[in-house]
Amino acid sequence: TFEFSDTLKRLPEQFFASLVMKAKKLTDAGHDVINLGQGNPDLPTPQHIVDELKAAADNPTYHKYSPFTGQPFLKQAIASFYKREYGVDIDPNTEVAILFGAKTGLVEISQCLLNPGDLALVPDPGYPDYMSGIALSNAIPAYMPLLEKNDFLPDYGELDEKTLEDAKLLFLNYPNNPTAATANKKLFDETIALANKYSICVVHDFAYGAIGFDGEKPQSFLQSEGAKDVGVEMYTLSKTYNMAGWRVGFAVGNPSVIKSLNLIQDHLYVSLFGAVQQAAEKALLGDQSAVEKLVNTYEKRRNVFVEKLQEIGWNVPKSKGTFFTWLPVPDGYTTETFSDLLLNEAHVVVAPGNGFGKNGEGYVRVGLLASEERLIEAAERIGKMEIFQK
Ligand code: PLP
Repeated sequence: TFEFSDTLKRLPEQFFASLVMKAKKLTDAGHDVINLGQGNPDLPTPQHIVDELKAAADNPTYHKYSPFTGQPFLKQAIASFYKREYGVDIDPNTEVAILFGAKTGLVEISQCLLNPGDLALVPDPGYPDYMSGIALSNAIPAYMPLLEKNDFLPDYGELDEKTLEDAKLLFLNYPNNPTAATANKKLFDETIALANKYSICVVHDFAYGAIGFDGEKPQSFLQSEGAKDVGVEMYTLSKTYNMAGWRVGFAVGNPSVIKSLNLIQDHLYVSLFGAVQQAAEKALLGDQSAVEKLVNTYEKRRNVFVEKLQEIGWNVPKSKGTFFTWLPVPDGYTTETFSDLLLNEAHVVVAPGNGFGKNGEGYVRVGLLASEERLIEAAERIGKMEIFQK
């Protein structure tokens, strides 16, 4: 047996593992389980992107190592994408880092900026991977509560002075996983002012940047003046183009932070497969009609699902973006007991809110990652549960 490192021991358990096990048990027992617990997009990658990959795979140049910080044409495409979508100017040479999925950048950013014992501000509830990077760096999280009364935005006025003085890094994520909230310009302006005052590096996770509902286009952090001075934004093709398996993400923004991310990526990965980079260029610059369709699909799913739940007497709000809904647990239950009840009585898997942090207690996260028919079926089964029978 080996004695594994303290670093490894600090890494949290994969939080979906126990959920997957419970669901599997029911499936094995012959039940029809509707899994709305995970965040794996169910729609296919648009065909023109897949076709581009197929054609590019025949190019022998791509069978070699790609340039170490990524193909220049992809960095240029990323800059053009930001200009087209957000009106933001990006220098492809110094302000773009190509990542193996946004996830790698979100973990590596802690290694770029945090020494052991340093403080990082993280949203609670929040996407668990920020914590993975903090754990790998042996740094310390300081939580920023995202509360319903504040529309799930952090209230910087509630953070104590010492915490702010010690913080080196601040993670933000809008549209937000898991609360499905969206940000506003005021929050970004406040964040930039805070970052300047306390010399904090800001990382805005814009993974759901394309997915805003009711005609609202989510704002990029870089649209706010001074953003590039204080941090970076991480983006991914996983959600916008249903390319989660392809592992294409990128960071844009502050050149010194970008340089540090590029250095770690070079040491760990060299570069993405060149053919994947060519297909990623196609995704960003080619026909965008699939993106609009995707947003409409999620919005319609949200509508049918939430309206059905409201009908059965569960008072839940409509999410503003992402492909999640964040539902308050009915009185008398905890997040855990209610998730178990949904699983056992309705055979519907949801993610317990406390898996995303202490302030996730009292909520469950439901992914809109099944067809409308399946979502209606899930809501109907929930409606038949004893607690919703008046
Ligand atoms: N950030 C958030 C908030 C996410 O929910 C996810 C994926 O679930 C990611 C980042 C990771 O994206 P990628 O597939 O690019 O690693």
